[in-house]
Amino acid sequence: MKPNIIEGCPSCSSIGELAGKSEEKKDYRLAHWPIQIKLMGTVIPFLDNADLLVAADCTAFTVQDFHERFLKDRKLLIGCPKLDNAQLYVEKFTEIFSNIPIKSVTCLRMEVPCCSGMTAVLKEAIKLSGKDIPLDETIIGVKGNVLSEMGV
Ligand code: SF4
Repeated sequence: MKPNIIEGCPSCSSIGELAGKSEEKKDYRLAHWPIQIKLMGTVIPFLDNADLLVAADCTAFTVQDFHERFLKDRKLLIGCPKLDNAQLYVEKFTEIFSNIPIKSVTCLRMEVPCCSGMTAVLKEAIKLSGKDIPLDETIIGVKGNVLSEMGV
């Protein structure tokens, strides 16, 4: 697959680090744009040496303090392993992990079975990339509580 930095969304013209992000709202911790996995290419400069949080879409609307709890000092990518094409996710993350040194990956997903696919995608992509990247999984209950946090 040919490496590329960005794919197909006008909003992505602002790719990269967000300047002055925390001046007005101290709890606003999103450090870059875009964030959708589907929009990303396979070379993502802002992930260089980053702690990456891959969050299933529903988690952001379920956890009340999502920003404060999960975004601090992490770079974020989001998606849905059920409504999107999970095999394409595997291929994209394999390329990303192969192209860029990443310190760690945390998968944040919902407790419902459909969401376990996100962890499986990341595990497979790390394996296929041949990199030794630590992967943690945090499972969120439908009431917004953290059910478990562990390495996988
Ligand atoms: S897999 Fe299910 S729970 Fe997870 S983000 Fe998609 S719709 Fe939400």
